[in-house]
This record gives sequence, structure tokens and C-alpha cells, in this order.
Amino acid sequence: MTLVDGFGRVHRDLRISLTDKCSLRCTYCMPAEGVPWIERDSILTTDELERIARVCVDLGVTSIRLTGGEPLVRKDAVEVVRRLAALGPEVSMTTNGLRLAELAQPLREAGLARLNISIDTLDRERFAQLTRRDRLDDVLAGIEAARVAGFTPLKLNAVAMRGVNEDELVDLVEFAVGQGAQLRFIEQMPLDAGHTWDRAAMLTGDEILERLRTRFRLEPIPGRGSSPADTWTLDGGPGSVGVIASVTAPFCAACDRIRITADGHVRNCLFARDESDLVPVLRGGGSDEDLVRIISGSIAAKRAGHGIDSPTFVQPDRPMSAIGG
Ligand code: SAM
Ligand code: SF4
Repeated sequence: MTLVDGFGRVHRDLRISLTDKCSLRCTYCMPAEGVPWIERDSILTTDELERIARVCVDLGVTSIRLTGGEPLVRKDAVEVVRRLAALGPEVSMTTNGLRLAELAQPLREAGLARLNISIDTLDRERFAQLTRRDRLDDVLAGIEAARVAGFTPLKLNAVAMRGVNEDELVDLVEFAVGQGAQLRFIEQMPLDAGHTWDRAAMLTGDEILERLRTRFRLEPIPGRGSSPADTWTLDGGPGSVGVIASVTAPFCAACDRIRITADGHVRNCLFARDESDLVPVLRGGGSDEDLVRIISGSIAAKRAGHGIDSPTFVQPDRPMSAIGG
């Protein structure tokens, strides 16, 4: 049995949010204060996470990405990696990098296959403004530790923002190349807790490429598969850059993702308005078949696309940090 939706999309990529908590407060993701945290008792235990992952692997999932919030804020993150990797799928993680100096090596040994680290600016003051924490040095140390631990190819994520870091796009790419990493720019999406996203203010994928072409010769790399990023070689390679244009060039038609929130709700899309709660089954003595029924039901109900560009689009109630990016 596989997870197939009404449009024939087979779901093989599971995203699990380990926590909604975070060590940063990026303006496009979380408010400065007053975050409505998920209650501690509602956060899935490691056993519950492992059980959901096992059921999904049996349903054809081949890769699991751990995210959040900040996944490395969770105390047993290394143990979670070890237990999920033992189930067989490729396990990867998206992190703000703050704890990697200490954890990159243990994560590698636990079976983590790939790491994406988020870094939107190389300027310390700008970093402090954007994330509301003065921690750029920790991210840089984390990137170095990831490289030393053997996480290659390393990917670095940057949300490109007009009037914030648009003057740094070339510098970020050069920094990534120097680290043997691939920079991937992300269009800002309407997932901030303050609901302040403005499409007109968003830097588009085309604008990102235009800025990069002032410095690099870009040649498209064919064959993106179900990856959200379009990629280009830089000056003939081997360095490359990616652009995730989720708003202006959505990749919904090839989407193979399913998400589990830190409190055990299945979401069939980042922008879904509905979620299906697995907790009554997990904590009420339900069977694996009950979990399969809920998870496949959620996928069966998946819409064709997220519809950000539609006039009827409504931003989800949960911010990115509580859904799992
Ligand atoms: N805390 C980790 C991190 O920052 O990498 C993992 C979770 S974070 C929600 C995952 C990714 O989503 C990050 O690369 C972040 O920059 C991106 N992100 C967060 N809010 C976003 C938004 N409104 N639009 C586009 N990307 C966003
Ligand atoms: Fe935290 Fe990641 Fe959101 Fe920034 S983007 S506030 S690091 S969860």
C-alpha cells in the first residue's frame, strides 16, 4: 500500500516537526513575544514519533526530514535520528545551526544523512535584527562543524527579502561555494505568525536570478524531480545555486510531502486549512491500522495546489514554526 492522492501523486517524503520551540525569532516566521506554544504534554514522545514513522515507512515513505521550530532544541534529537534512521529511510534535518558545533558529529554517527542550514545574512547586526538574537557566530561555527563531520553536499537556505538581504545574494552564494555548499534561496511565503506577508514586497525567483546574473553565468541543471528547487551551475560549475519559488512557480504538481506537527497532527500541505489528529489513536490504545486510515485519508483529501496566488487564499492558522518548515 502507498500514499496516493486523488491526483496520482505518490507520497514518499515525510516531514516531522520535533518541536515548535526555537532559539531564534526570525521576523518572517515567529513574533518577538507572545508565541502560543504547544503544551508540553501534547508534544509527541520519541516512542510515538517512531511509531508514526514506522507506519509511514510501511506506507512507502523513503525519506524523513526533521524540522520545527528548531529541531535541535529538542533534547533527544540525536536519539530521534538514531531510531528513525534504524527504520531504513534517509533521515535529514533542517536547522538554524546554532547547536551544530556540538551536535554535528553525534548526528552523523546517529545516521543523519543530510543537513540543510538556514542563514539569511552574513552581517552580524543584520542577523541580530532579522532573528532578534545576536547568534551569527554560532551559525557559522555550526556550518563549519557540519562540513568537518562530513555532511556533503551541504545545503544552505536563505529567505530572500526585499530591503533586507537583497544586496547580499551574491555574497551568500560566494560564501556557500567557499564552504563546498549549495545556497538555495527561498521566496518568502505567507506563514509568519503576524500575518504581515505582502506579495508585492516579496522578492521573486526571477528577481533573485536577475541579481545573481550580475556576477555569475547561470546555466540551468535539468531534472529537478520532486525537489522544490530549480538549480543552476555557477560559471560552468562545479558550484551551483538553487531557487525555491514556492509562490511564483509552485511545485505542487510534483509534491510528494506529508507533514506531522510536533503535537501529532497530519497535514497534507504547508498551507492546508485542515489537520487530522493522530493523538487519540496513539494515546487511546488505537491500532496501526487506525493510524494508516487517518494518514491515508489526509493524503486522499489533498488539494491540487496551495493556491497562494488565488484571491480566495487564506493563510493557515498555525505559523511556519508550529507546522514544521
Ligand atoms: N528552525 C529551522 C531553520 O530555520 O532552518 C527549521 C525550521 S524553519 C521553519 C525551516 C525553513 O523555513 C528555514 O529555512 C526558514 O528560513 C524557512 N522559513 C520560515 N518561515 C518562512 C517563510 N515565511 N517563508 C519562506 N521560508 C520560511
Ligand atoms: Fe526558528 Fe527556523 Fe522559524 Fe527562524 S525560521 S524562527 S530559526 S523556526
